Amino acid sequence: MHYEHSKEQATEYAKLAMNRIRRDGFTATPHIYELWYVYYSGQSPEIKKKIDALIADKQNITDKQCMDIHRRHLSEEYKEDLVSRAGDEMNNTINSFSGVVEEAKSATEQYSGKLGGVSEQMTHVSDPEEFKAILGTVMNDTEEMINRNEKLEKELEHSTEIVNKLKKDLENIRQEALTDGLTGLANRKSFDTSIDEIQLTARTEDKPFSLMMMDIDHFKTFNDNYGHQVGDQVIRLVSRTLIDGVKGRDIAARYGGEEFAVILPETPLEGAVRVAETLRVAIADKEIVNRSTGNKLGKITVSIGVAEYSDGETVHDMIERADEALYAAKHNGRNQVAAAPKSKPKPSSTTVQL
Ligand code: GH3
Ligand code: MG
Ligand code: MG
Repeated sequence: MHYEHSKEQATEYAKLAMNRIRRDGFTATPHIYELWYVYYSGQSPEIKKKIDALIADKQNITDKQCMDIHRRHLSEEYKEDLVSRAGDEMNNTINSFSGVVEEAKSATEQYSGKLGGVSEQMTHVSDPEEFKAILGTVMNDTEEMINRNEKLEKELEHSTEIVNKLKKDLENIRQEALTDGLTGLANRKSFDTSIDEIQLTARTEDKPFSLMMMDIDHFKTFNDNYGHQVGDQVIRLVSRTLIDGVKGRDIAARYGGEEFAVILPETPLEGAVRVAETLRVAIADKEIVNRSTGNKLGKITVSIGVAEYSDGETVHDMIERADEALYAAKHNGRNQVAAAPKSKPKPSSTTVQL
């Protein structure tokens, strides 16, 4: 999160945040402070919505809930920060590593220069004492060279260890930065990158691919009736059904609050509609149980819009068509799958031969 508030605004939000922390007895950790600062600045509608929902539930908000919201909504930024810091560390290691290699190279050059000089001197030596003295210098230089090489080897080993550890850390952080905290599904950022890549492959290889947009039906009512926490539990339940239900190269993502997207590479519309229907039924079959009370809360349903990529259209157009189909599914009564009509290919511009 980037903060661009004036001095007065920042002081005001800081005061409100600290008052709130004091009043409700939160632990004033930097994360909890940041959360309340963001809440009062209104900078993140998602955070505002979540906290307001907790307040509306008349719950006593706990430190843990604050930390959960922080992790879900603010930690992506931290991860990006961590990635850039790990990248800097990697660069530093590579730079110092290059320095060591340069130093070793120049030492080797000096050494072979000296050896060249010695071999020149040797041709004129007749006195055994002089010969001994020259040999002594060569042995000294050689020993120095061996020591240098040992030192270099150790430094190389150390640098390799650091680079391998950093590589692993970076991979973990990258993976986390592409994963949605609440559900473990691909997040929106990951979805955006994946769909661009898949569109490119589909166009180059001239293969079909489809997109599914899914939205939970009447979720607002569910949230209002049972509270945000149970709402979150339902979001996780839908996500698990998606994880279990899509296989192979298909990518399931959390597109927004209670909206999901599935990208199906190498899948034409009919196949995607079949997968969507299976997911819809699997979700509608599940009984929601409140984990804290064990009470049965009934069932939830989803509506799904499906579109097949039409050659020449942008990813944005494709998402819009899948969204329109989703809207049609909602409009026709929800708990159903609607397929977007295949869009007409854009006329390719005619080339005039002169
Ligand atoms: P529809 O069938 O037309 O989709 O109705 P709906 O009530 O699901 O639609 P609407 O978009 O009006 O409401 C979505 C609600 O989802 C609003 C918000 O309270 C809730 N929501 C969004 N994100 C989250 C989240 O991360 N957790 C929880 N618990 N609720 C969320
Ligand atoms: Mg919605
Ligand atoms: Mg909805």
